[in-house]
Amino acid sequence: MYNPKSHKAEEFICHQEVLDTLEYAKNNKDNLEVVNKILEKARLKKGLTHREAAVLLDCDIPEKVEEIYALAREIKQDYYGNRIVLFAPLYLSNYCVNGCVYCPYHLKNKHIPRKKLTQEEIRQEVTALQDMGHKRLAIESGEDPVNNPIEYILDSIKTIYDVKHKNGSIRRVNVNIAATTVENYKKLHDAGIGTYILFQETYNKESYEKLHPTGPKHNYAYHTEAMDRAMEAGIDDVSLGVLFGLELYRYEFAALLMHAEHLEAAFGVGPHAISVPRIKHADDIDPDTFDNGIDDDTFAKIVACIRIATPYVGMIISTRESKECRERLLSLGVSQISGGSKTSVGGYFKPMPDSEDSAQFDVSDRRPLDEVIKWLMELGYLPSFCTSCYRQGRTGDRFMEICKSQQIHNFCEPNAIMTLKEYLEDYASDETKAVGEKIIQKELQTIKDERIKNIVTENLKKIEQGGRDFKF
Ligand code: SAM
Repeated sequence: MYNPKSHKAEEFICHQEVLDTLEYAKNNKDNLEVVNKILEKARLKKGLTHREAAVLLDCDIPEKVEEIYALAREIKQDYYGNRIVLFAPLYLSNYCVNGCVYCPYHLKNKHIPRKKLTQEEIRQEVTALQDMGHKRLAIESGEDPVNNPIEYILDSIKTIYDVKHKNGSIRRVNVNIAATTVENYKKLHDAGIGTYILFQETYNKESYEKLHPTGPKHNYAYHTEAMDRAMEAGIDDVSLGVLFGLELYRYEFAALLMHAEHLEAAFGVGPHAISVPRIKHADDIDPDTFDNGIDDDTFAKIVACIRIATPYVGMIISTRESKECRERLLSLGVSQISGGSKTSVGGYFKPMPDSEDSAQFDVSDRRPLDEVIKWLMELGYLPSFCTSCYRQGRTGDRFMEICKSQQIHNFCEPNAIMTLKEYLEDYASDETKAVGEKIIQKELQTIKDERIKNIVTENLKKIEQGGRDFKF
């Protein structure tokens, strides 16, 4: 029985409700009256239900598809302005006891070099990341209670926050580790993490069990209910995602939105962000062996429909995708991207030759961070290294309230400008700095509140004189 308030996976991601949604979408995708009514609601920019969004995703009437894209762009602009937040993944350990068939870390892979960073090696990685200009990391680890117990993750978080190299510091650590207990989530919360990230991989239980044949991750309910436990433990910023390519995308799309609705219904706060990874080649993994791969056009439509259905939710795209693909998705709804990423354990301090590499998947966008920043600015975006919201206590429902009322601009815009200035002073090449100074002047003019504009102008001067970490 479908029940968005239930804490049971099979009730809030009810298989029958997903099937009924797909049927509803199929029956209405050409019904102009229904499609127009949904678009009318979407134009209010307060979001859509999973059923309504599924109709838009299925609809292929050319003029309506154009309307969908135009609306996604408009919502993106309204909620996020030109800002794009930057982060980098940091792989701690690729020891893993699971049997995920799409991931090269699976237990049976005997030839991938296994590596777990020591605390000293983490310091080296973080120093290298700070030297690039990063302020926000997502730590990644395989699941292995012996090699990567929660204590190891907690020690690592502490080490990361403690590294202060030149003007650098990591101000927000997001955590992507396997589903765990309420007790462990409490420990992560106490360690001061930003967002807890966990990809569902697939919401289809039958496929999920086949794709995760062995190991603790095999347990569909435990994995699907992880965000409930995280929220129960006090982590109110959680990030959802599916690995597109594993299952039929329409199924994943509807279920992903049902998961977001569930968090809102059960905890009063939806997900902080949604990631949209696609399966990639990696070591012994060939993405062509999975039947449900999606092309770039379908991918773009998924992103646009997520943006329309959940206007206030951040959307993340990684370097799994190429420069061209990222460029297209940025305008349609993506608000956060990684840059200069390495997906191998220890890849930042000491890049490895391919034969010794422990990479989790191939990276498509291999440009250094400085190039990514310059490219973003040339496209008219304002790269942001801001980490302020969670450090100022704007998390969970407090964040969502500010976001839904679109007041977030008052914080994010000045913070983006000031953190970009820090980046330009400390890390940018001359060329990037020249482009960046112009962007800062242009964006400064968009701050409507004169008082805030004056404070930012003062702070920009102070940053030139060596001051750091100004924030609203
Ligand atoms: N081990 C943790 C867990 O069990 O959820 C999460 C960390 S894992 C390093 C991060 C994510 O990488 C996975 O959730 C999965 O979606 C993604 N991933 C795994 N194999 C991939 C592949 N071949 N291509 C793209 N993404 C992949």
